[in-house]
Amino acid sequence: MTIRPLGLDPSHCLIAGRWQVPSAGERIALINPSDGSTLCGVAAGNADDINAAVAAAQAARDGEWGRLTASERGRILARIGVLVAENAGHLAELEALDVGKPLTQARADVAALARYMEFYAGAADKVHGSTIPYLEGYTVYTLREAHGVTGHIIPWNYPMQIIGRSVGAALAMGNACVLKPAEEACLTALAFGELARQAGLPDGALNIVPGSGAVAGAALSAHPGIQHLSFTGSVATGRLVQQAAGSNVVPVTLELGGKSPQLVFDDADIDGALPFLINAGIQNAGQTCSAASRILVQRGVYDQVLSAMAERYRALTVGPALGDPNVGPLISLRQKDIVTSYIDAGADLSVAATGQIAEDAPAGGAYVTPTLFGGVPPSHRLAQEEIFGPVQVVIPFDDEAEALGIANGTEYGLVAAVWTRDGARQMRLARALRAGQVFLNNYGAGGGVELPFGGSGLSGHGREKGFEALYAFSSLKTVAALHG
Ligand code: NAD
Repeated sequence: MTIRPLGLDPSHCLIAGRWQVPSAGERIALINPSDGSTLCGVAAGNADDINAAVAAAQAARDGEWGRLTASERGRILARIGVLVAENAGHLAELEALDVGKPLTQARADVAALARYMEFYAGAADKVHGSTIPYLEGYTVYTLREAHGVTGHIIPWNYPMQIIGRSVGAALAMGNACVLKPAEEACLTALAFGELARQAGLPDGALNIVPGSGAVAGAALSAHPGIQHLSFTGSVATGRLVQQAAGSNVVPVTLELGGKSPQLVFDDADIDGALPFLINAGIQNAGQTCSAASRILVQRGVYDQVLSAMAERYRALTVGPALGDPNVGPLISLRQKDIVTSYIDAGADLSVAATGQIAEDAPAGGAYVTPTLFGGVPPSHRLAQEEIFGPVQVVIPFDDEAEALGIANGTEYGLVAAVWTRDGARQMRLARALRAGQVFLNNYGAGGGVELPFGGSGLSGHGREKGFEALYAFSSLKTVAALHG
């Protein structure tokens, strides 16, 4: 089978508005994680392709794209959003095949991408500077300006959502972008590039160079023509990208994952919490930076919550993405090995329940059994490290102080949730939890186009989504006029 996103040849890069064979003509095989078959060969771009893409982006900034007004940019983004929505079925199927994402979850990602375009289309001409009272005889004001050329290195787990939140915001502010999608999954990134072209985005405003991280990714992050880097992925790679950004002295946004907790207190609405406790752990087979992989439960409701979660785990369906199960395959056999080794490392723990892999799931698929561990000590490796698979640990606690200590007791700080009817406790914990987002009596793993998102500690730094992203993808110039 050769997949053709929107009829395109997937072995091409998008540079200066044209689909082109990468300079060395090399390809990477794209694997369908549901059965191990090869979907197609995609471009393996190299440093020459990145050079060409950065040059095209700079030319766009100096040319037609750089001259558009904010409202004109917004109109183009709005058209891209409409085209994304019109092609929703095709995009969802591409994502299901490429990422192994169950169809319902892939459709949600398409809807989010369309919504990002809608949001940033409307926001493009709402970002403005201010006037600042200063000395006698002066008028001082600030201008919000695009950085110039921005680099976007994205992972395989949520290609469409991450394109929406980073490329969408960068374009809204007038930057020209070079996007390096992940080698494991890049079909929807290519389709997005084509839809952007069809929507009338000027040539070079968005360039897409698929390729390996070590070659294309490293070349992009080190390129002196890039004025801002946005990276989502592993901590190890994030460090390299930050070092490269440091060498060129450019700002970088890092989103590196987490070990996010949900805290369930004795007075919580347990029935209301349960779907959030489970879904935030198994969504996209747990391969979600903001997965709620730690569930902290107060002892008064601990047995009730654990047994209700276990019951739901036993009912989880696991199988090929196009069959729309609760849990699809992991992205790759390599990722399956990593997650399996974590499950094995929990041999000393008590397994509260597991899901079931469908008997007819293809043998070549990257399936792992969703696993719920109960009574897990907070210091255990499974309660400390990001697993990136459908594995959750449930940890008991006695009181608020202990819960807070456990919640903040990892090296990450991305998202947290608190389930309690006690308003004062909600306010205390919302302040005290180390996280970029705190949800009170709900949880939004990856959701919330309008909501600023990002972490601290090993989860990274900087904020994307919402209006904050528009500030991140622009810089502020102060103009001081002495006129007497
Ligand atoms: P990764 O960090 O290696 O890959 C993410 C992106 O970075 C990809 O586009 C990749 O090509 C690129 N990249 C790789 N090496 C690079 C380099 N030297 N310079 C520049 N770019 C480079 O992540 P991975 O290997 O796909 O996954 C490994 C682990 O990372 C996972 O098990 C998971 O724990 C974590 N992860 C987190 C997220 C997240 O959303 N925070 C996403 C994917 C993976």
